[in-house]
Amino acid sequence: MANYLRPKLYMRDFYEVLGVSRDASQSQMKKAYHRLAMKYHPDQNPNDPEAEEKFKEAANAYAVLSDPDKRARYDRYGHDAFEPGGMSMGVDDIFSAFSDIFGDFMGGSRRRRGQRGSDVRVAVELTFAEAVWGTTQEIEIPRHEPCTTCSGSGAKPGTSPKPCSACGGRGQVMHSQGFFMIQTTCPNCRGEGMIIDELCNKCRGRKSIKKFSTLSVSVPPGVDHGQQLRLAGQGEHPPGGGAPGHLFVLLHVQPDERFLREEENVLTDVPISYLRATLGGEVEIPTLDDECQGTAMIDVEPGTQPDTIIVRRGQGIPRVGRSGRGDHVIRFKVEIPTKLSRRERELLRELAEESGEQVGSSKNSFFSRLKR
Ligand SMILES: [Zn+2]
Ligand SMILES: [Zn+2]
Repeated sequence: MANYLRPKLYMRDFYEVLGVSRDASQSQMKKAYHRLAMKYHPDQNPNDPEAEEKFKEAANAYAVLSDPDKRARYDRYGHDAFEPGGMSMGVDDIFSAFSDIFGDFMGGSRRRRGQRGSDVRVAVELTFAEAVWGTTQEIEIPRHEPCTTCSGSGAKPGTSPKPCSACGGRGQVMHSQGFFMIQTTCPNCRGEGMIIDELCNKCRGRKSIKKFSTLSVSVPPGVDHGQQLRLAGQGEHPPGGGAPGHLFVLLHVQPDERFLREEENVLTDVPISYLRATLGGEVEIPTLDDECQGTAMIDVEPGTQPDTIIVRRGQGIPRVGRSGRGDHVIRFKVEIPTKLSRRERELLRELAEESGEQVGSSKNSFFSRLKR
């Protein structure tokens, strides 16, 4: 029943769709289609069904008119030249059918993504100071380069690859869908177009060999352990030509026990004696300056309590890609001596008496008093 109710598909004239005259040349039509495909490209018009319809309509018109045989049939018989319902090229079919057009298209990213070379990942070791202040490192990158034994053909020297019989060397095979011919990658040669009978024994037919090349990588100040640098276009080159992949450099940063890092802030525990904590004074601290070998003197206020914190604003780690630095946090660790000289013990007892404290004998300790 539904079939009877379905309205007859109205198809616009293909020349009208492309906006060209009936005697337009192939290059005029290609240009016209290029312009329309760009305008209605799904990447430019996300979630716009009307644009998608226009995109398909233009592709369908171009599919017919760019083929001399189909164009001749269309000129003679119009839409009746083709079976009804043949207008069913989906968006992905369009990309694969017109790869020559979308390959160098703005917005042809779907295809370009597929052709990009592989990414390469390497790790580098940085000292704490190198991570804080940045560095330039010479790193070895494993990448594939054309095999010199077979000059990149993959075939044993003296032999050469033969054109694939399944696709006639084109790397693509055509099959029909509706009245369109759709191109897909040849399964026999995997799109290479050539078949190698005897493999090169150096690269075993892979055409390339993994080689190490040296690259100078500049590490910006402020990077942290576990972060990655991305060097665009420094990865593998795809065998068939196209955009190279990226190089990812994973950073391993050695810790520095003087500086406990939390994002762009660092914490330094500074030991001070109970005497300095009580009476006050100055203490030397390590700083991040001079490649993390710097020092500074800071004041200890009389009566400083254990774990007192002093924040040195803007003295921490540089923020990557931004201005400014985090903070350097100083935490005083008050040390209680474990060994005393006879004289020290005497003086401390005297001090204890002065402050009215019963000290120095275990039976007078807080815990032994509790037990009683
Ligand atoms: Zn083939
Ligand atoms: Zn080889």
